[in-house]
Amino acid sequence: MLEAQGSERPRRLLGMAAATAVLVSLAMAGSAHADAVTGAGATVTPTTTIDPDQQYADYLATRRPDGSWPGAPDPGVKAKSPVTSLHTYPKLTDRQLAGMRGRTGEVATIDPAVQATVQTVRVTKDATIVQTYLPVPGVTPDQLAAGLRAQGHGDVRVTRSSDFSTTAPSSCSYGSARTVTCPVSFWRNNGHEDPIVRFNDHSGSSWPVSKAVPKWNQVANIDSWYYWNSCPSLAGARCVDVFSGNYGATGWVGRATRTYPSGATSGAFAESGHRIQLNDYYSPTTFTRNNVATHEVGHTLGLGHNVFSNDVLYYVANTREDIGGENPVLLAGLYSITR
Ligand SMILES: [Zn+2]
Repeated sequence: MLEAQGSERPRRLLGMAAATAVLVSLAMAGSAHADAVTGAGATVTPTTTIDPDQQYADYLATRRPDGSWPGAPDPGVKAKSPVTSLHTYPKLTDRQLAGMRGRTGEVATIDPAVQATVQTVRVTKDATIVQTYLPVPGVTPDQLAAGLRAQGHGDVRVTRSSDFSTTAPSSCSYGSARTVTCPVSFWRNNGHEDPIVRFNDHSGSSWPVSKAVPKWNQVANIDSWYYWNSCPSLAGARCVDVFSGNYGATGWVGRATRTYPSGATSGAFAESGHRIQLNDYYSPTTFTRNNVATHEVGHTLGLGHNVFSNDVLYYVANTREDIGGENPVLLAGLYSITR
């Protein structure tokens, strides 16, 4: 019993150290990769961090034709995960969907200080690249945005929850789970009855992407398939890459990168360049990695954020892991028409 208590304590302290490190990093703008210092009588293990943008560039340079990547870490049991089975995860019926719509006893509170979506938007010759960040609990959207700006990100955009009360196109921030009246982001059918989105998971064993993807496959009108470290060619389908790594004290625990064709006005996604990146740096205490993975998969299917604080698509990482609430209804509705 004493041993159990003893082993619990350091983990709590580590959690506090991590939270402190965020604030220090945000305050010290731009020096997230500070060298470890070894003092007399103390041993400091240098912590290697990687740049998520460099990681993706490395992937593009070294991936094999089937989408596998030599740099992928040990996946543990995920390597045994089959392609998502439609039999194991059958589509929710209309009746089941209707039953999930209710929000008994829940009231959406609008707090623009906390409920704000932090994104970076980069426009290149070929594409508009939108990155949406999921703050670690305790980091406000404004702190996160300030940190991103300090790290050299231009075009940081903060969209407040209060903006979602209007249907003005500029307020919708590339799709919202709050309402389908906003301009939406969507995958084209490309000749399939439902759009097919394959998730090519290159993330480590602690990230349950193999559990997150099949959850979303229960939603009617769009198919979400899981693959470990591969994505074989399939006409009309596309691949979303999933990575993890120690990205350091960035203030965010998950990031979804979505791309649109240059000059696009319809909201249709580009067919390539989409990815999810999951930050190993933060030890889960007041959130779960299942929540983060499920949240980011929801984004790459077309959903935005949800104002309900116990929702898997809430603005801040939390412990909710099921896709319930409005999300299945919204997503099924988004893909109820063929485009
Ligand atoms: Zn998000």
